[in-house]
Amino acid sequence: MIRAPYSASDTAGIPSDASIRELVAVREIVHAFLTADRPQDVYQFALDRVSPLVGAAFASIYTIEGDDDVMRLAASYNWPERFRPFLGQMRVRVGLGPSGQAAGERRAIQVPDVFADPSLADWQEVATELGFRALVALPLQTPARVLGAVTFYFEKPGHLAVEERGLLQIVADQMAATAEKASMIDDLRRANGALLESNAQLEQQYVAVMEARRLKDEFLSNISHELRTPLTALLGYAYLLQEEMSGPLTDDQRKTLSHMTSSSERLLELIEDLLELTALRRGEVRVQVELFDPRTALESALAATASDRPVGIQLHTEIPDGPPRWIRSDRQKVVKILSKLLGNAYKFTSQGEVRATVQVLNDLARFTVSDTGIGIPSTAHQLVFDEFRQVDGSTTRQYGGSGLGLALSRQLARLLGGDIQLESAPHEGSSFVVEIPLEFSSELQPAVVQPG
Ligand code: ADP
Repeated sequence: MIRAPYSASDTAGIPSDASIRELVAVREIVHAFLTADRPQDVYQFALDRVSPLVGAAFASIYTIEGDDDVMRLAASYNWPERFRPFLGQMRVRVGLGPSGQAAGERRAIQVPDVFADPSLADWQEVATELGFRALVALPLQTPARVLGAVTFYFEKPGHLAVEERGLLQIVADQMAATAEKASMIDDLRRANGALLESNAQLEQQYVAVMEARRLKDEFLSNISHELRTPLTALLGYAYLLQEEMSGPLTDDQRKTLSHMTSSSERLLELIEDLLELTALRRGEVRVQVELFDPRTALESALAATASDRPVGIQLHTEIPDGPPRWIRSDRQKVVKILSKLLGNAYKFTSQGEVRATVQVLNDLARFTVSDTGIGIPSTAHQLVFDEFRQVDGSTTRQYGGSGLGLALSRQLARLLGGDIQLESAPHEGSSFVVEIPLEFSSELQPAVVQPG
């Protein structure tokens, strides 16, 4: 064995057997990994522990950052005090000098004696000042990339023995792998931090949205209450006039009054829909359970909407005969749902027919309201159930309406433990299927009815 300048025997207390030192070195690096959080710390810990093991007087690690071909100091060990301030500012270009060459060529570069090599004449002054004669630079690399180089400096000249080279290579490889893992953990930790932060922001936004929504509901509810009171009074007086309590009416007056009451009734219905929607959202709508025959619910809805049927539109009903079939649910709400669907069917159908059916199946009543009207494109099948949404939302739209009817109907159906499905295509008509359980159970009922 050629005398290694940093042979173990030069350093008191260091194990002399190469394989034991290998083990000790690996143990120190593992220790560095367990103790350190960031790659920089891994390098520093490892360098502090390993440099004495290999008999180095001092040592440094330079790493490549980003796509740069310039390396910067990542850790240093035992550099003479007066040189330390400059170390941090030093840049090593990949490919130049022993450290740069080790990184650039991905191989160990040995300089057994700086003073014996005329090509290193420039280094001799520095070496004298720093007090080193030999050095070895090793690439810090993983299978995927080169991270930088680690360089050990020795006071005495000499060649590396094979086992010493092996030990240093193991040290360098372990450092690189360990730093790479620490860097991944660091990245993960940072990504996790960013995620936690955006999570917190999302939560804040969610709270803000919920608060805005609560305020909107509160506003709608308050304003609707305020509007309903005078409107009901107005309607009351109009009915009195219609009944000629204040004297006989001319035909013109009767006509005008009739327009007035029907417009006010529409407005009142809109206000009541708004109130019901906000109450549904707050979980304030009570289900009034009663026993009734679903056929009578459909009949009531047909009667309530009879005046909406345009002239020329046929109404077909399929209401099976037979002994009464019972459902225990909220009759008024079922009638309301069916009335809304029938009202829409009449509104959006200018020729053909409207069909209404009822069936009692095993555990549910199924109602269908279909028409041969304008139909709804599949892209709008979801949104028509949203509040205030209409297929044609423009101000120039042909059909009037508030966009509340389907939202309210679906939420009421869900409150009763059922639902509404839609089948429709443009120009082919629409078919709404309402299913309501025969036995209302508060367990089937969502705690708070969500829109949509
Ligand atoms: P609106 O008061 O506008 O009728 P709805 O919530 O009842 O509000 O309906 C929402 C939208 O769904 C309507 O504006 C219309 O675009 C579409 N729609 C509902 N029913 C029908 C139907 N039977 N035929 C065609 N379109 C319909």
